[in-house]
Amino acid sequence: DFEYPHTFILLGASGDLARKKIYPTIWYLYRDNLLPRHTKFVGYARTKQTISEVKEKCKKYLKVRPGEEEKLKEFWEANEYFAGSYDKRVDYEMLNQLISKFEKGPVANRIFYLAVPPTVFGDVTVNIRNACVSIKGFTRVIIEKPFGRDDDSSQKLSNHLAGLFKEEQIYRIDHYLGKEMVQNLMTIRFANQIFSPSWNRENIASVLISFKEPFGTEGRGGYFDDFGIIRDVMQNHLLQILSLVAMEKPVTLNPNDIRDEKVKVLRHISPIQLNDILVGQYVGNPEGKGEEKLGYLEDPTVPKDSVTPTYALAALHINNARWQGVPFVLRCGKALNERKAEVRIQYKDVPGDIFNGHAKRNELVIRVQPGEALYLKMMSKSPGMKFDLVETELDLTYSMRYKETDVPDAYERLILDVFTGTQMHFVRSDELEEAWRIFTPVLKELEGKRIKPVPYVYGSRGPPAADSKLASYDFKYSGSYKWQKPTLS
Ligand code: NAP
Ligand code: NAP
Repeated sequence: DFEYPHTFILLGASGDLARKKIYPTIWYLYRDNLLPRHTKFVGYARTKQTISEVKEKCKKYLKVRPGEEEKLKEFWEANEYFAGSYDKRVDYEMLNQLISKFEKGPVANRIFYLAVPPTVFGDVTVNIRNACVSIKGFTRVIIEKPFGRDDDSSQKLSNHLAGLFKEEQIYRIDHYLGKEMVQNLMTIRFANQIFSPSWNRENIASVLISFKEPFGTEGRGGYFDDFGIIRDVMQNHLLQILSLVAMEKPVTLNPNDIRDEKVKVLRHISPIQLNDILVGQYVGNPEGKGEEKLGYLEDPTVPKDSVTPTYALAALHINNARWQGVPFVLRCGKALNERKAEVRIQYKDVPGDIFNGHAKRNELVIRVQPGEALYLKMMSKSPGMKFDLVETELDLTYSMRYKETDVPDAYERLILDVFTGTQMHFVRSDELEEAWRIFTPVLKELEGKRIKPVPYVYGSRGPPAADSKLASYDFKYSGSYKWQKPTLS
């Protein structure tokens, strides 16, 4: 299939996402010769501009190494830009003619990337369906969040799409599914006999999945305020990770077998209860620098009385034979002390203790970012004459172990997957439906009752009450673990 012409059409090509993420990504894929040889790229948006103007706007986001100038020139030569409206069929008919010009031979495939705001989504998809589908190859459509804002709006969107395209044609991006360590979860679990048999309620006390961001809305909170951190991060990225941590072993590695298991485990989760959630909102730090001084409500694009959470901790309960009684705690926030995404699998205390309570729990930490790492905290005898215990770890740090290997960016993998037709790392509509079923009632309750988030200081670890809440879900933090960064000898 890779010998046939392919066209990658980027709708919303004048936008932020296009410039900062999509153009750079297709350039890297092109540069590394990963795309079909005859791939054309067509940008589409209302803004009237030439391809040189697009090129100029993208310039500072495209990394070009010495010696790649010629290739870059080739890349831009394979690019076209076409200005048209989102709602007029005639414009799409012209777009179709433009695409057809490149499509020599018996087969030609098309990929549409929708980097447009949700307000024009309906029009764009209808027009693609009516005027731009490939008549001699596949048509695939990549869409970005938000996939609705609650169960009803999401269902409406899914129904709309289902009326136009088959599920095999729809690629819903959750870029967390493109991250190396998230993709590694299945291998860790199902290719290691030491983990598989202990991955259950007999052995695991609790699971903590965290996402932390060190910056706030920086004066652009208008969009965020309508969604909040639960919709922005928890309902999608963190729940996707949860389903990969908790699902049963799929029948095969076939994408639909995997997604069947992800849906199944979500179906065992009942909607989140209000008492299983804690929400927070950051306030300025008077001692901080610049942005840190400003609280969320001081962002001029945010309503002064907003109760939108910028932090949330929620416990989910999976009512199946493997997990009953094991809390899965999801935690995410903006304006915190660090950037981090990780999974902590905390094992139970060793029964029949002979070490006078000195043994600490095993913890398997899967660090998604920054710096991929996998470490298993364990107890060992302290080296030397004494018979004391010491907390230590088995450590796989990617930057040490795989020095020569570049970990590809999430978007690069995911866009390449669309070319090859691999839906494993994309969200299926029934997964999405389950995700909204779990989150919609509590979102409605928080909003309906206008529940005030607890304040936390910009640059802190989040609301202090979150630690005691976490402890109530059987996640133990001792503060005694000390890590020594290995030094290169
Ligand atoms: P954007 O820059 O606001 O919009 C993309 C393009 O859409 C604009 O260049 C504009 O192009 C057109 N547009 C903007 N507002 C419009 C309106 N009200 N009516 C009709 N057309 C309009 O958005 P973006 O940041 O690139 O994001 C695109 C989509 O991806 C959004 O749905 C967003 O929710 C989603 N997303 C973005 C990010 C991100 O990092 N930026 C991350 C995840 C998801 P023309 O005026 O030239 O037509
Ligand atoms: P840890 O001591 O078990 O956990 C420290 C983390 O616990 C803190 O970063 C904080 O994270 C959280 N915490 C702090 N106070 C808390 C409280 N009162 N209640 C609940 N949680 C609390 O050790 P670790 O984080 O696994 O490792 C310590 C350091 O060593 C980290 O910087 C880690 O990256 C590093 N390390 C690196 C590698 C590697 O690169 N391979 C291997 C091992 C360790 P939150 O703010 O997220 O809650």
